[in-house]
Amino acid sequence: MFDQVELDRELFAALGRVDAEIARAVRDDGCGWCGGRLHRGDYPRKPRGALIAAAGEAQVVRFSFCCGREGCRRRTTLPSLRFLGRRVYLEAVVLVASVIALIRDAERGTGREVGVPPRTLGRWLGSSHPESYTARSRS
Ligand SMILES: [Zn+2]
Repeated sequence: MFDQVELDRELFAALGRVDAEIARAVRDDGCGWCGGRLHRGDYPRKPRGALIAAAGEAQVVRFSFCCGREGCRRRTTLPSLRFLGRRVYLEAVVLVASVIALIRDAERGTGREVGVPPRTLGRWLGSSHPESYTARSRS
């Protein structure tokens, strides 16, 4: 069942369009600190899609803005449906892999199925997940 999970290009294109809409709304609101005009300051990302979202690895730009007002110049990084903070994996991978791991509960092979190392999955799931518990007890 889970070996058929693959997030396709259309999904990531749709998530990219939503991120673009968020970017337009944030730009229109201006700088959150001083109200100054925002300028595009996108930055490159090299996200991992693991085995379930290789199509998402083409999402290489995270939208961001820099304030144009002298004395402020603060960066505004937007909320995103594609990227989860600074995590190297795509947000969809984090969500789907975590859900699969939770469904399988103490499953040992989940990392192989989605291409995410068990230790990383354990970190995403917190200390209640058996893999993270095992990883901690080894170190
Ligand atoms: Zn500003």
